[in-house]
Amino acid sequence: MSSKHKAGLIENIAEKLHLIPQLHDELEAELPRLTEPGKLADYPPPEKWDDWVEYEAKSWPQREAKHYMIVPTSCFNCEAGCGLLSYVDKETMEVRKFEGNPWHPASRGRNCAKGPATINQIRDEDRILYPLKRSGKRGEGKWQRLSWDDVLDQIASRIRETLQAGKNNEVVYHVGRPGHEGYMDRVLKAWGVDGHNSHTNICSAGARFGYAVWHGFDRPSPDHANAKFILLISAHLESGHYFNPHAQRIIEGMMKGAKLAVMDPRLSNTASMADYWMPTYPGSEAAVLLAMAKVILDEGLYNESFMKTWVNWQTYLKKERPGIAVNFENFIGALKEEYKEYTPEFAEQESGVPAKMIVETAKQAGEAGTRLSTHNWRSAGSGNLGGWAVARCLHFLNVLTGSVGSVGGTSPSAWNKFKPNVFDSPPAVKFWNELHFPNEYPLAHYEMSQLLPHFLKEGRGKLSVYFTRVFNPVWTFPDGFTWIEALSDESKIGLHAALTPTWNETAFFADYVLPMGHASERHDLISYETHSGLWIGFRQPVVREALRRQGKPVNFTYEANPGEVWEEDEFWIELSWRIDPDGSLGIKEHFISPYRKGEKIRIDEYYRHIFENTTGLPEKASKEGLTPLDYMRKYGAFEVETTSYNKHLAKLSNEELESTKVDDTNTIIKDGKSIGVMVDGAACSGFPTPSRKQEFYSQTIIDWGWPEYKIPVYIKSHIHEEKMDREKGEFPLLPTFRLPALIHSRSSNAKWLTEISNRNPVWMHTSDAKRFGIKSGDLLRLNTEIGYFIDRVWVTEGMKPGVVMCSHHIGRWRRPQDTAGNRWATNLVDIQQVEKGKWKMRVLDGIRPYKSGDPDSSRIFWNDGGVHQNMTFPVHPDPISGMHCWHQKVRIEKAHAEDKYGDVFVDTNKSFAVYQEWLKMTRPAPGPDGLRRPLWFNRPLRPVDELYYLG
Ligand code: SF4
Repeated sequence: MSSKHKAGLIENIAEKLHLIPQLHDELEAELPRLTEPGKLADYPPPEKWDDWVEYEAKSWPQREAKHYMIVPTSCFNCEAGCGLLSYVDKETMEVRKFEGNPWHPASRGRNCAKGPATINQIRDEDRILYPLKRSGKRGEGKWQRLSWDDVLDQIASRIRETLQAGKNNEVVYHVGRPGHEGYMDRVLKAWGVDGHNSHTNICSAGARFGYAVWHGFDRPSPDHANAKFILLISAHLESGHYFNPHAQRIIEGMMKGAKLAVMDPRLSNTASMADYWMPTYPGSEAAVLLAMAKVILDEGLYNESFMKTWVNWQTYLKKERPGIAVNFENFIGALKEEYKEYTPEFAEQESGVPAKMIVETAKQAGEAGTRLSTHNWRSAGSGNLGGWAVARCLHFLNVLTGSVGSVGGTSPSAWNKFKPNVFDSPPAVKFWNELHFPNEYPLAHYEMSQLLPHFLKEGRGKLSVYFTRVFNPVWTFPDGFTWIEALSDESKIGLHAALTPTWNETAFFADYVLPMGHASERHDLISYETHSGLWIGFRQPVVREALRRQGKPVNFTYEANPGEVWEEDEFWIELSWRIDPDGSLGIKEHFISPYRKGEKIRIDEYYRHIFENTTGLPEKASKEGLTPLDYMRKYGAFEVETTSYNKHLAKLSNEELESTKVDDTNTIIKDGKSIGVMVDGAACSGFPTPSRKQEFYSQTIIDWGWPEYKIPVYIKSHIHEEKMDREKGEFPLLPTFRLPALIHSRSSNAKWLTEISNRNPVWMHTSDAKRFGIKSGDLLRLNTEIGYFIDRVWVTEGMKPGVVMCSHHIGRWRRPQDTAGNRWATNLVDIQQVEKGKWKMRVLDGIRPYKSGDPDSSRIFWNDGGVHQNMTFPVHPDPISGMHCWHQKVRIEKAHAEDKYGDVFVDTNKSFAVYQEWLKMTRPAPGPDGLRRPLWFNRPLRPVDELYYLG
């Protein structure tokens, strides 16, 4: 229904600023985007990118013309992969600055602070410029330079020996920030190793499981720009997943009248922009969401047509309510019965959010109907035992309102993510690595990476070659001292190669430190679910590309980068070739050029093949007289689909429909398996679940031993109020929130960013501070289960009482023996093992000005490097999703006389005991038919199906 009323200019502005209510009750179905790719006015037009002239700011008042070549690439400072334009000085071939790329369909010319700060990273005086090998004991801090040739030969021969001995599970690649589409999975498959490990289970495993059990897809892709009601769990507007692209679209949606509700115990910048700030007690979010679901049901605001067709309600009724007729009315009645306890008052009691606000937001969500966009990624899903239930209950609201895959709703991630057509696909691997997917966690999403050092300690296996790539578990993961113990032990990890652009706490314990490029120094293909649409971005080494345009091509990227900084893509090709020089291991054949018979593939050929096989790209390129590769080199991005809605309605082909039958739930069955759903006479593919529908009722969860969670429910967290002894000073600590200008351990080499954010005090509400007689700046000791850290307190009203918080971004360190790195942000610390397993860290010095080629390093005015809290957290793996549950119960006391700011103490014997305690909560495989994991659950590097069965 369209509004007849036409708003005037003043009315329009007043509506957009929320000074008056939105007067137009229905948004048009096909809304134009506020910014079309390439339409920002203030950017140099692409036809001038080969020779763009600007006056040199430093020469003012003289008008000195500088000639630049503008080369696009993609930011590598968070997972959003926004477009960047680099300005390469044609005289010196130096990159002078980065701006946004208006031709990028997701970021549309805009960036957050971290994008342009890439210039700091490539000019960082402390960066690693050459490959290094340790020359002393591991961790001793002694290094010698060696050539890339030597690096490749030495590592390749060890991998070759390991594979020849059949110890394929001992070769492991552990990645922090992937930043590419499938490149490494292909390499590992070519090597025949189940060697993919990741950071997923300290990040997003909770949300992934919550989504996957609903519909097989493990992430949400909200269409914020076209929503009427936006519901965020945490701070996605300022610092969440796909931060800048999402922020643009949230604001776009709000300017068109959408209301924003934010659940977060912290009054974040996101919450402060919201129409509704819902400061939940941490871990209570699912209770609030189910209360909202109850309101939607009771008020009749659910979408009958969507639910009738797409929810597996018949199965639920047959199994759980055998005595009643299988019809939709009875299902709604049963739902009301199931959720009758989840009253707004109950949710208020659990969460502290007023019942009135819960009812109001629920009605708005229900009235938004198919235009409800929601998002949960880390946050509550990553903090709590049972945190996966938050995503499960949040998505329940999308299912109830029919806003799954709709305009303004929330789509599955995969609909907005590009799958490259690669020149060669090695077969699935024939190994199952139980160090990554142990039997205790059959439903984990995905690798139990946080448990790796404990598994090694227990003797479950060892590693012959361990690559860490843009991955810093010593600092980023919980239980960092247990990581140090494992990484220091050569009997557990034979060879550790750290592939990293910058020094980090994990690289200190490597055998090889291999410098890899920043955003403008490497190739990658990227595509993310930033909005409804489908795009690819091309990250390219911009100086190499500028040299090529000038007719001076290089063979390898390290020839164009500073020092001998390389890139992983070429490194893996060269390494693979040397692992299998004669082809006898069957590896070499996967690295042969598709364009030159029998010859080693070049990196431009790898991307050429993908771009030549990307729908629509060859046609678009030829309109400009370009090859697909040259189009991507020129623009850095391509929009494959403008919108990507309702893909579950894709029609099955006649061939697929051969020998099928339709059961009494409208499900299309072929060879005993569901392949689709009949919708109004059309055969649709549906969702990749056993029922092809949205699984409100999860037979999988029942089959794998957790029947109590078969439908969306609220699970009480390990830091529930019932677990707190307030008399003893116990608080839940939220250690997970991001600072918008920083990104984990990747921003410490960016001076502009560390200047903005350089300390992480403990946030405490004024009422709690008053109770304890604490004021801002006081030193506190925060005791965890395995140790403590000493931090200053910041007293604020901008949070929920009864909770304390501390951002995890800060507290970087280096020891006196380590090569100086990231000195904008690293404390100098002393680390001592005072007794077996008892570790003490003390800050010797904070951040100091220092002399370097960058005059700004002498101008550092801050001296606080913050506190490394994560080290004092034991592992808390959720027994179902495998997610590390970050929130901690801490006992707070005033600092002792001997305590100093930044002190950390940890007993790793206690860490191990906590690991064993949490392990006892699991319900291990095998599941039905002797499976170690449900066959329909994916893995990032999926081995052959036979290995899903325990032999
Ligand atoms: S959101 Fe910021 S850090 Fe992330 S990719 Fe975009 S510009 Fe880079």
